[in-house]
Amino acid sequence: MLASLPSLANGLAGLVAAFLFLFGLLRMSSPVTAPSGIRLAGVGMAVAVLASFLYAFDVSAAARPHLWVNIGLAALALGLGGGVAWWSGRTVAMTAMPQMVALYNGMGGGAAAAIAAVELLGGKAQGATALAATLAGALIGAVSLSGSVVAWAKLDGVIQRPLRLKGQQVLNGLVMLLTLALGVYIVLVALVLASAPLSLPVLIGIFFGCALVVGVLMTLPIGGADMPVVISIYNAFTGLAVALEGYVLRNPALMIAGMVVGAAGLLLTLLMARAMNRSVGNVVFTNFGTVSKRRKSAIKGELKPMSPGDAGIAMRYARSVIVVPGYGLAVAQGQQKLYELVELLQAGGVSVRFAVHPVAGRMPGQMDVLLAEAGVPYDQIFQLEDINDAFADTDVALVIGANDVVNPAARNDKSSPIFGMPILDADRAKQVFVVKRGEGKGYAGIPNALFYGGNCHMVYGDAQAVLVKMTEAVKSLGLPAAA
Ligand code: NDP
Repeated sequence: MLASLPSLANGLAGLVAAFLFLFGLLRMSSPVTAPSGIRLAGVGMAVAVLASFLYAFDVSAAARPHLWVNIGLAALALGLGGGVAWWSGRTVAMTAMPQMVALYNGMGGGAAAAIAAVELLGGKAQGATALAATLAGALIGAVSLSGSVVAWAKLDGVIQRPLRLKGQQVLNGLVMLLTLALGVYIVLVALVLASAPLSLPVLIGIFFGCALVVGVLMTLPIGGADMPVVISIYNAFTGLAVALEGYVLRNPALMIAGMVVGAAGLLLTLLMARAMNRSVGNVVFTNFGTVSKRRKSAIKGELKPMSPGDAGIAMRYARSVIVVPGYGLAVAQGQQKLYELVELLQAGGVSVRFAVHPVAGRMPGQMDVLLAEAGVPYDQIFQLEDINDAFADTDVALVIGANDVVNPAARNDKSSPIFGMPILDADRAKQVFVVKRGEGKGYAGIPNALFYGGNCHMVYGDAQAVLVKMTEAVKSLGLPAAA
Protein backbone atom coordinates (compact mmCIF):
# COMPACT_ATOMS: atom_id res chain seq x y z
CA MET A 1 0.00 0.00 0.00
CA LEU A 2 1.26 3.47 -0.86
CA ALA A 3 2.23 5.71 2.06
CA SER A 4 0.11 8.85 2.60
CA LEU A 5 1.40 12.20 1.28
CA PRO A 6 2.15 13.68 4.75
CA SER A 7 3.94 10.46 5.69
CA LEU A 8 6.11 10.60 2.55
CA ALA A 9 6.80 14.31 3.02
CA ASN A 10 7.63 13.72 6.70
CA GLY A 11 10.15 10.98 5.85
CA LEU A 12 11.70 13.08 3.09
CA ALA A 13 11.94 16.14 5.35
CA GLY A 14 13.69 14.00 7.98
CA LEU A 15 16.22 12.88 5.40
CA VAL A 16 16.87 16.45 4.19
CA ALA A 17 17.20 17.68 7.79
CA ALA A 18 19.66 14.88 8.60
CA PHE A 19 21.78 15.74 5.57
CA LEU A 20 21.79 19.46 6.49
CA PHE A 21 22.73 18.72 10.15
CA LEU A 22 25.63 16.48 9.17
CA PHE A 23 26.89 18.68 6.33
CA GLY A 24 26.58 21.77 8.56
CA LEU A 25 28.51 20.01 11.33
CA LEU A 26 31.25 19.08 8.88
CA ARG A 27 31.60 22.72 7.82
CA MET A 28 31.80 23.82 11.46
CA SER A 29 35.18 22.08 11.75
CA SER A 30 37.00 25.10 10.26
CA PRO A 31 36.56 28.77 11.23
CA VAL A 32 36.47 29.69 7.52
CA THR A 33 33.43 27.51 6.75
CA ALA A 34 31.82 27.55 10.22
CA PRO A 35 29.38 30.47 9.61
CA SER A 36 27.87 28.74 6.56
CA GLY A 37 27.83 25.45 8.55
CA ILE A 38 25.78 27.10 11.29
CA ARG A 39 23.36 28.53 8.72
CA LEU A 40 22.96 25.12 7.03
CA ALA A 41 22.28 23.40 10.36
CA GLY A 42 19.74 26.17 11.13
CA VAL A 43 17.92 25.47 7.85
CA GLY A 44 18.06 21.76 8.78
CA MET A 45 16.39 22.59 12.10
CA ALA A 46 13.65 24.54 10.30
CA VAL A 47 13.05 21.54 8.02
CA ALA A 48 12.96 19.23 11.07
CA VAL A 49 10.31 21.46 12.70
CA LEU A 50 8.32 21.35 9.46
CA ALA A 51 8.63 17.55 9.48
CA SER A 52 7.18 17.48 13.00
CA PHE A 53 4.16 19.50 11.83
CA LEU A 54 3.70 17.14 8.86
CA TYR A 55 3.82 14.22 11.27
CA ALA A 56 0.74 15.63 13.00
CA PHE A 57 -1.21 15.17 9.75
CA ASP A 58 0.13 11.66 9.37
CA VAL A 59 -1.73 10.21 12.36
CA SER A 60 -5.36 9.16 12.03
CA ALA A 61 -8.06 11.81 12.44
CA ALA A 62 -9.42 10.02 15.54
CA ALA A 63 -6.04 10.38 17.25
CA ARG A 64 -5.93 14.12 16.64
CA PRO A 65 -9.23 15.63 17.76
CA HIS A 66 -7.65 18.98 18.59
CA LEU A 67 -5.25 19.17 15.63
CA TRP A 68 -5.60 22.88 14.81
CA VAL A 69 -5.64 23.98 18.46
CA ASN A 70 -2.42 21.99 18.99
CA ILE A 71 -0.82 23.39 15.85
CA GLY A 72 -1.72 26.91 17.00
CA LEU A 73 -0.19 26.26 20.42
CA ALA A 74 2.97 24.80 18.85
CA ALA A 75 3.29 27.82 16.52
CA LEU A 76 2.86 30.16 19.51
CA ALA A 77 5.54 28.28 21.47
CA LEU A 78 7.86 28.39 18.46
CA GLY A 79 7.33 32.13 18.04
CA LEU A 80 7.93 32.85 21.73
CA GLY A 81 10.91 30.50 22.08
CA GLY A 82 12.47 31.61 18.80
CA GLY A 83 11.99 35.28 19.74
CA VAL A 84 13.62 34.90 23.17
CA ALA A 85 16.50 32.88 21.65
CA TRP A 86 17.04 35.48 18.93
CA TRP A 87 17.09 38.34 21.44
CA SER A 88 19.31 36.58 24.02
CA GLY A 89 21.70 35.31 21.32
CA ARG A 90 22.23 38.86 20.08
CA THR A 91 22.60 40.52 23.47
CA VAL A 92 24.57 37.96 25.51
CA ALA A 93 28.14 38.96 26.43
CA MET A 94 30.86 36.67 25.10
CA THR A 95 31.93 35.79 28.67
CA ALA A 96 28.35 34.81 29.59
CA MET A 97 28.09 32.36 26.68
CA PRO A 98 28.75 29.23 28.83
CA GLN A 99 25.80 30.17 31.11
CA MET A 100 23.53 30.60 28.10
CA VAL A 101 24.62 27.27 26.62
CA ALA A 102 23.91 25.64 30.01
CA LEU A 103 20.38 27.06 30.11
CA TYR A 104 19.52 26.17 26.52
CA ASN A 105 20.94 22.69 26.97
CA GLY A 106 18.80 22.22 30.09
CA MET A 107 15.74 23.26 28.11
CA GLY A 108 16.50 20.57 25.50
CA GLY A 109 16.64 17.94 28.25
CA GLY A 110 13.47 19.36 29.82
CA ALA A 111 11.66 19.24 26.48
CA ALA A 112 12.60 15.56 26.03
CA ALA A 113 11.41 14.83 29.60
CA ALA A 114 8.14 16.71 28.93
CA ILE A 115 7.48 14.63 25.80
CA ALA A 116 8.10 11.51 27.88
CA ALA A 117 5.68 12.74 30.56
CA VAL A 118 2.93 13.30 27.97
CA GLU A 119 3.53 9.85 26.49
CA LEU A 120 3.53 8.13 29.90
CA LEU A 121 0.59 9.96 31.46
CA GLY A 122 -1.48 9.67 28.27
CA GLY A 123 -0.79 5.92 28.15
CA LYS A 124 0.57 6.35 24.61
CA ALA A 125 3.81 4.42 25.16
CA GLN A 126 2.64 0.84 24.56
CA GLY A 127 4.74 -2.30 24.96
CA ALA A 128 7.90 -3.00 26.95
CA THR A 129 10.36 -1.46 24.45
CA ALA A 130 8.43 1.79 24.00
CA LEU A 131 7.90 2.10 27.76
CA ALA A 132 11.56 1.44 28.54
CA ALA A 133 12.72 3.93 25.86
CA THR A 134 10.28 6.58 27.13
CA LEU A 135 11.38 6.12 30.74
CA ALA A 136 15.10 6.14 29.78
CA GLY A 137 14.56 9.38 27.83
CA ALA A 138 12.61 10.81 30.77
CA LEU A 139 15.39 9.98 33.24
CA ILE A 140 18.24 11.29 31.08
CA GLY A 141 16.29 14.41 30.05
CA ALA A 142 15.28 15.27 33.63
CA VAL A 143 18.85 14.76 34.92
CA SER A 144 20.12 17.00 32.12
CA LEU A 145 17.48 19.67 32.97
CA SER A 146 18.18 19.95 36.72
CA GLY A 147 21.95 19.40 36.30
CA SER A 148 22.19 22.14 33.66
CA VAL A 149 20.25 24.57 35.86
CA VAL A 150 22.72 23.94 38.72
CA ALA A 151 25.60 24.37 36.22
CA TRP A 152 24.10 27.70 35.12
CA ALA A 153 23.80 28.82 38.78
CA LYS A 154 27.45 27.97 39.40
CA LEU A 155 28.72 29.69 36.28
CA ASP A 156 26.63 32.77 37.03
CA GLY A 157 27.90 32.95 40.61
CA VAL A 158 24.45 32.24 42.13
CA ILE A 159 26.02 29.16 43.78
CA GLN A 160 29.49 30.20 44.87
CA ARG A 161 31.23 26.98 45.93
CA PRO A 162 30.97 23.19 45.51
CA LEU A 163 28.47 21.69 47.98
CA ARG A 164 29.74 18.31 49.15
CA LEU A 165 28.06 16.09 51.71
CA LYS A 166 29.72 13.29 53.65
CA GLY A 167 29.09 10.05 51.76
CA GLN A 168 27.97 12.02 48.72
CA GLN A 169 28.84 9.25 46.23
CA VAL A 170 26.83 6.68 48.25
CA LEU A 171 23.83 9.02 48.44
CA ASN A 172 24.02 9.72 44.68
CA GLY A 173 24.22 5.97 43.99
CA LEU A 174 21.22 5.23 46.23
CA VAL A 175 18.97 7.90 44.67
CA MET A 176 19.99 6.68 41.21
CA LEU A 177 19.17 3.08 42.15
CA LEU A 178 15.80 4.13 43.60
CA THR A 179 14.97 5.98 40.35
CA LEU A 180 15.92 2.98 38.20
CA ALA A 181 13.92 0.62 40.44
CA LEU A 182 10.90 2.92 40.14
CA GLY A 183 11.28 2.89 36.35
CA VAL A 184 11.28 -0.92 36.27
CA TYR A 185 8.26 -0.99 38.63
CA ILE A 186 6.33 1.42 36.38
CA VAL A 187 6.95 -0.87 33.37
CA LEU A 188 5.75 -3.86 35.42
CA VAL A 189 2.63 -2.05 36.65
CA ALA A 190 1.78 -0.93 33.11
CA LEU A 191 2.37 -4.35 31.53
CA VAL A 192 1.88 -7.12 34.06
CA LEU A 193 0.54 -6.07 37.44
CA ALA A 194 -3.03 -4.94 37.39
CA SER A 195 -2.76 -2.68 40.41
CA ALA A 196 -0.18 -0.95 42.59
CA PRO A 197 -0.28 0.71 46.03
CA LEU A 198 0.01 4.08 44.32
CA SER A 199 -1.70 5.08 41.07
CA LEU A 200 0.44 5.15 37.91
CA PRO A 201 0.44 8.99 37.59
CA VAL A 202 1.70 9.27 41.20
CA LEU A 203 4.47 6.73 40.53
CA ILE A 204 5.44 8.59 37.36
CA GLY A 205 5.51 11.88 39.33
CA ILE A 206 7.81 10.37 41.99
CA PHE A 207 10.01 8.95 39.20
CA PHE A 208 10.43 12.43 37.65
CA GLY A 209 11.09 13.98 41.08
CA CYS A 210 13.85 11.45 41.79
CA ALA A 211 15.40 11.97 38.34
CA LEU A 212 15.54 15.75 38.93
CA VAL A 213 17.18 15.15 42.35
CA VAL A 214 19.81 12.92 40.68
CA GLY A 215 20.79 15.82 38.36
CA VAL A 216 21.09 18.24 41.29
CA LEU A 217 23.09 15.80 43.46
CA MET A 218 25.44 14.95 40.59
CA THR A 219 26.25 18.58 39.82
CA LEU A 220 26.36 20.29 43.23
CA PRO A 221 29.73 18.82 44.33
CA ILE A 222 31.55 19.72 41.10
CA GLY A 223 33.64 22.92 41.15
CA GLY A 224 32.26 25.89 39.17
CA ALA A 225 35.38 25.95 37.00
CA ASP A 226 34.64 22.45 35.69
CA MET A 227 31.15 23.44 34.57
CA PRO A 228 32.00 23.78 30.84
CA VAL A 229 32.96 20.08 30.75
CA VAL A 230 29.88 19.17 32.80
CA ILE A 231 27.65 21.12 30.39
CA SER A 232 29.21 19.23 27.53
CA ILE A 233 28.35 15.93 29.32
CA TYR A 234 24.76 17.12 29.81
CA ASN A 235 24.71 18.14 26.16
CA ALA A 236 25.42 14.52 25.26
CA PHE A 237 22.67 13.43 27.71
CA THR A 238 20.16 15.82 26.13
CA GLY A 239 20.95 14.48 22.67
CA LEU A 240 20.42 10.92 23.85
CA ALA A 241 17.13 11.80 25.58
CA VAL A 242 15.85 13.58 22.46
CA ALA A 243 16.86 10.62 20.25
CA LEU A 244 15.01 8.20 22.56
CA GLU A 245 11.86 10.33 22.50
CA GLY A 246 12.20 10.62 18.71
CA TYR A 247 12.15 6.82 18.60
CA VAL A 248 9.05 6.71 20.80
CA LEU A 249 7.26 9.34 18.66
CA ARG A 250 8.54 7.69 15.46
CA ASN A 251 9.88 11.06 14.37
CA PRO A 252 13.05 10.48 12.28
CA ALA A 253 14.14 14.15 12.33
CA LEU A 254 14.06 14.17 16.14
CA MET A 255 15.95 10.88 16.31
CA ILE A 256 18.69 12.06 13.95
CA ALA A 257 19.03 15.51 15.57
CA GLY A 258 19.25 13.84 18.99
CA MET A 259 21.90 11.39 17.88
CA VAL A 260 23.98 14.13 16.24
CA VAL A 261 23.81 16.27 19.41
CA GLY A 262 24.56 13.24 21.61
CA ALA A 263 27.59 12.18 19.58
CA ALA A 264 28.89 15.76 19.28
CA GLY A 265 28.49 16.32 23.04
CA LEU A 266 30.30 13.09 23.83
CA LEU A 267 33.20 13.88 21.49
CA LEU A 268 33.46 17.44 22.81
CA THR A 269 33.56 16.14 26.40
CA LEU A 270 36.38 13.74 25.53
CA LEU A 271 38.32 16.41 23.61
CA MET A 272 38.03 18.96 26.45
CA ALA A 273 39.10 16.39 29.03
CA ARG A 274 42.05 15.36 26.86
CA ALA A 275 43.16 18.97 26.27
CA MET A 276 43.22 19.39 30.07
CA ASN A 277 44.96 16.01 30.46
CA ARG A 278 42.18 14.79 32.78
CA SER A 279 39.73 11.93 32.58
CA VAL A 280 35.99 12.62 32.52
CA GLY A 281 35.77 10.72 35.83
CA ASN A 282 38.37 13.06 37.32
CA VAL A 283 36.26 16.07 36.29
CA VAL A 284 33.06 14.63 37.76
CA PHE A 285 34.44 13.11 40.95
CA THR A 286 37.32 15.38 42.09
CA ASN A 287 37.49 19.00 43.11
CA PHE A 288 39.95 20.44 40.60
CA GLY A 289 42.61 22.84 41.88
CA THR A 290 42.35 21.80 45.52
CA VAL A 291 44.84 18.94 45.23
CA SER A 292 48.61 19.29 45.58
CA LYS A 293 48.83 23.01 44.81
CA ARG A 294 52.35 24.15 44.13
CA ARG A 295 53.31 26.80 46.64
CA LYS A 296 54.59 30.10 45.27
CA SER A 297 57.65 29.84 47.53
CA ALA A 298 58.79 26.89 45.38
CA ILE A 299 59.16 29.28 42.43
CA LYS A 300 62.42 31.22 42.06
CA GLY A 301 62.75 34.74 40.63
CA GLU A 302 60.65 37.87 40.98
CA LEU A 303 57.90 39.68 39.16
CA LYS A 304 59.28 42.51 36.99
CA PRO A 305 56.71 45.16 36.03
CA MET A 306 56.96 47.10 32.78
CA SER A 307 54.87 49.96 31.45
CA PRO A 308 52.53 49.30 28.49
CA GLY A 309 54.35 51.98 26.48
CA ASP A 310 57.79 50.35 26.91
CA ALA A 311 56.39 46.92 26.01
CA GLY A 312 54.67 48.37 22.92
CA ILE A 313 57.88 50.05 21.75
CA ALA A 314 59.90 46.84 22.33
CA MET A 315 57.44 44.96 20.10
CA ARG A 316 57.70 47.64 17.41
CA TYR A 317 61.46 47.00 17.20
CA ALA A 318 61.09 43.20 17.29
CA ARG A 319 61.27 41.03 14.17
CA SER A 320 58.64 38.55 15.31
CA VAL A 321 55.82 38.47 17.86
CA ILE A 322 53.47 35.63 18.84
CA VAL A 323 50.29 36.71 20.62
CA VAL A 324 48.80 34.24 23.14
CA PRO A 325 45.21 35.26 23.96
CA GLY A 326 43.43 33.87 27.03
CA TYR A 327 40.31 34.19 29.14
CA GLY A 328 41.27 37.70 30.37
CA LEU A 329 41.11 39.05 26.79
CA ALA A 330 37.48 37.91 26.60
CA VAL A 331 36.76 39.47 30.02
CA ALA A 332 38.29 42.79 28.89
CA GLN A 333 36.68 42.57 25.42
CA GLY A 334 40.04 43.74 24.12
CA GLN A 335 40.03 41.85 20.81
CA GLN A 336 39.45 44.91 18.57
CA LYS A 337 42.20 46.90 20.29
CA LEU A 338 44.50 43.89 20.06
CA TYR A 339 44.08 43.61 16.31
CA GLU A 340 44.52 47.38 15.92
CA LEU A 341 47.93 47.08 17.63
CA VAL A 342 48.83 44.00 15.59
CA GLU A 343 47.98 45.74 12.30
CA LEU A 344 50.17 48.66 13.33
CA LEU A 345 53.08 46.34 14.12
CA GLN A 346 52.58 44.43 10.87
CA ALA A 347 52.53 47.69 8.92
CA GLY A 348 55.94 48.38 10.47
CA GLY A 349 57.28 45.04 9.18
CA VAL A 350 56.94 42.97 12.36
CA SER A 351 55.83 39.38 11.78
CA VAL A 352 52.86 38.79 14.10
CA ARG A 353 51.00 35.49 14.56
CA PHE A 354 48.34 34.32 17.02
CA ALA A 355 48.73 31.09 19.01
CA VAL A 356 45.48 29.51 20.23
CA HIS A 357 45.39 26.83 22.92
CA PRO A 358 42.47 24.35 22.61
CA VAL A 359 41.14 25.19 26.09
CA ALA A 360 42.07 28.89 26.29
CA GLY A 361 39.11 30.83 27.70
CA ARG A 362 36.11 29.07 29.17
CA MET A 363 34.57 27.50 26.11
CA PRO A 364 36.00 25.46 23.25
CA GLY A 365 36.80 27.76 20.34
CA GLN A 366 36.24 30.94 22.40
CA MET A 367 39.54 32.51 21.30
CA ASP A 368 38.96 31.65 17.63
CA VAL A 369 35.57 33.36 17.83
CA LEU A 370 37.02 36.43 19.61
CA LEU A 371 39.79 36.84 17.03
CA ALA A 372 37.39 36.26 14.13
CA GLU A 373 35.10 38.93 15.66
CA ALA A 374 37.99 41.40 15.52
CA GLY A 375 38.63 40.54 11.86
CA VAL A 376 41.95 38.69 12.33
CA PRO A 377 42.59 36.72 9.08
CA TYR A 378 42.42 32.96 9.63
CA ASP A 379 45.88 32.41 8.15
CA GLN A 380 47.38 34.38 11.07
CA ILE A 381 45.74 32.13 13.68
CA PHE A 382 47.67 28.97 14.57
CA GLN A 383 46.66 26.05 16.78
CA LEU A 384 49.03 24.75 19.47
CA GLU A 385 50.60 21.90 17.52
CA ASP A 386 51.25 24.12 14.49
CA ILE A 387 53.06 26.95 16.26
CA ASN A 388 54.65 25.62 19.44
CA ASP A 389 58.07 24.99 17.88
CA ALA A 390 58.17 28.61 16.64
CA PHE A 391 58.33 30.20 20.14
CA ALA A 392 62.05 29.42 20.54
CA ASP A 393 62.83 31.55 17.44
CA THR A 394 60.47 34.38 18.36
CA ASP A 395 61.54 37.75 19.74
CA VAL A 396 58.43 38.47 21.82
CA ALA A 397 55.58 36.35 23.17
CA LEU A 398 52.69 38.66 24.13
CA VAL A 399 50.59 36.72 26.65
CA ILE A 400 47.35 38.61 27.02
CA GLY A 401 44.87 37.52 29.71
CA ALA A 402 46.20 33.94 29.57
CA ASN A 403 47.66 32.05 32.50
CA ASP A 404 47.19 28.26 32.76
CA VAL A 405 47.70 27.65 29.04
CA VAL A 406 51.28 29.01 29.33
CA ASN A 407 52.13 27.58 32.77
CA PRO A 408 55.39 25.57 32.55
CA ALA A 409 54.30 23.56 35.62
CA ALA A 410 52.29 21.48 33.13
CA ARG A 411 55.64 20.40 31.65
CA ASN A 412 57.91 20.08 34.65
CA ASP A 413 56.00 19.85 37.98
CA LYS A 414 54.62 16.37 38.57
CA SER A 415 52.71 17.52 41.67
CA SER A 416 50.80 20.18 39.71
CA PRO A 417 47.12 19.55 38.97
CA ILE A 418 47.78 20.59 35.37
CA PHE A 419 50.83 18.34 34.93
CA GLY A 420 50.74 16.73 31.48
CA MET A 421 48.37 19.29 29.93
CA PRO A 422 49.88 20.46 26.62
CA ILE A 423 50.82 24.17 26.92
CA LEU A 424 51.93 26.92 24.58
CA ASP A 425 55.71 27.26 25.07
CA ALA A 426 55.65 31.06 25.49
CA ASP A 427 58.44 30.82 28.10
CA ARG A 428 60.83 29.73 25.32
CA ALA A 429 60.51 33.07 23.46
CA LYS A 430 63.41 35.51 23.81
CA GLN A 431 61.20 37.98 25.67
CA VAL A 432 57.75 37.55 27.23
CA PHE A 433 55.23 40.29 28.08
CA VAL A 434 52.33 39.15 30.25
CA VAL A 435 49.30 41.43 30.36
CA LYS A 436 47.07 40.90 33.42
CA ARG A 437 45.49 43.03 36.11
CA GLY A 438 47.46 41.81 39.12
CA GLU A 439 48.32 38.66 41.01
CA GLY A 440 45.08 36.88 40.05
CA LYS A 441 45.37 33.16 39.42
CA GLY A 442 44.02 31.28 36.44
CA TYR A 443 41.25 28.70 36.33
CA ALA A 444 43.45 26.01 37.96
CA GLY A 445 44.22 28.35 40.88
CA ILE A 446 47.97 27.74 40.85
CA PRO A 447 50.96 30.10 40.59
CA ASN A 448 52.77 30.41 37.26
CA ALA A 449 56.60 30.18 37.10
CA LEU A 450 56.57 31.85 33.67
CA PHE A 451 55.79 35.22 35.28
CA TYR A 452 58.95 34.97 37.44
CA GLY A 453 61.28 33.96 34.57
CA GLY A 454 64.32 36.10 33.70
CA ASN A 455 62.92 36.78 30.19
CA CYS A 456 59.44 37.83 31.43
CA HIS A 457 57.96 41.25 32.23
CA MET A 458 54.52 41.89 33.71
CA VAL A 459 52.42 44.62 32.09
CA TYR A 460 49.73 45.24 34.69
CA GLY A 461 46.27 46.51 33.83
CA ASP A 462 42.99 45.64 32.15
CA ALA A 463 43.86 44.07 28.77
CA GLN A 464 41.88 46.62 26.75
CA ALA A 465 43.35 49.64 28.55
CA VAL A 466 46.89 48.25 28.23
CA LEU A 467 46.43 47.62 24.50
CA VAL A 468 45.26 51.22 23.99
CA LYS A 469 48.43 52.48 25.71
CA MET A 470 50.66 50.12 23.72
CA THR A 471 49.07 51.32 20.48
CA GLU A 472 49.54 54.98 21.44
CA ALA A 473 53.21 54.33 22.23
CA VAL A 474 53.81 52.57 18.89
CA LYS A 475 52.01 55.38 17.04
CA SER A 476 54.08 57.99 18.89
CA LEU A 477 57.26 56.53 17.36
CA GLY A 478 56.00 57.66 13.98
CA LEU A 479 58.43 55.32 12.22
CA PRO A 480 57.85 54.85 8.50
CA ALA A 481 56.12 51.64 7.54
CA ALA A 482 58.49 48.97 6.26
CA ALA A 483 58.45 48.32 2.52
P1 NDP B 1 43.14 31.44 32.92
O1 NDP B 1 41.80 31.34 33.52
O2 NDP B 1 44.16 30.45 33.29
O3 NDP B 1 43.76 32.89 33.26
C1 NDP B 1 43.12 34.06 32.90
C2 NDP B 1 43.93 35.23 33.42
O4 NDP B 1 43.35 36.40 32.89
C3 NDP B 1 43.90 35.37 34.94
O5 NDP B 1 45.12 35.00 35.51
C4 NDP B 1 43.55 36.85 35.18
O6 NDP B 1 44.56 37.45 36.01
C5 NDP B 1 43.58 37.45 33.77
N1 NDP B 1 42.51 38.43 33.56
C6 NDP B 1 41.22 38.36 33.94
N2 NDP B 1 40.55 39.45 33.57
C7 NDP B 1 41.44 40.24 32.92
C8 NDP B 1 41.34 41.52 32.29
N3 NDP B 1 40.20 42.23 32.26
N4 NDP B 1 42.46 42.03 31.71
C9 NDP B 1 43.63 41.35 31.76
N5 NDP B 1 43.77 40.14 32.33
C10 NDP B 1 42.67 39.59 32.91
O7 NDP B 1 42.91 31.51 31.34
P2 NDP B 1 43.55 30.66 30.16
O8 NDP B 1 42.79 31.09 28.96
O9 NDP B 1 45.02 30.75 30.18
O10 NDP B 1 43.20 29.17 30.52
C11 NDP B 1 41.91 28.64 30.45
C12 NDP B 1 41.69 27.70 31.61
O11 NDP B 1 40.30 27.36 31.64
C13 NDP B 1 42.47 26.40 31.49
O12 NDP B 1 42.93 25.98 32.75
C14 NDP B 1 41.44 25.43 30.95
O13 NDP B 1 41.71 24.10 31.33
C15 NDP B 1 40.19 25.95 31.64
N6 NDP B 1 38.96 25.55 30.97
C16 NDP B 1 38.76 25.86 29.67
C17 NDP B 1 37.66 25.42 29.02
C18 NDP B 1 37.46 25.68 27.57
O14 NDP B 1 36.64 25.01 26.98
N7 NDP B 1 38.16 26.64 26.99
C19 NDP B 1 36.61 24.66 29.71
C20 NDP B 1 36.90 24.43 31.10
C21 NDP B 1 38.02 24.88 31.67
P3 NDP B 1 44.24 38.80 36.82
O15 NDP B 1 43.06 38.49 37.66
O16 NDP B 1 45.48 39.08 37.59
O17 NDP B 1 43.94 39.86 35.81
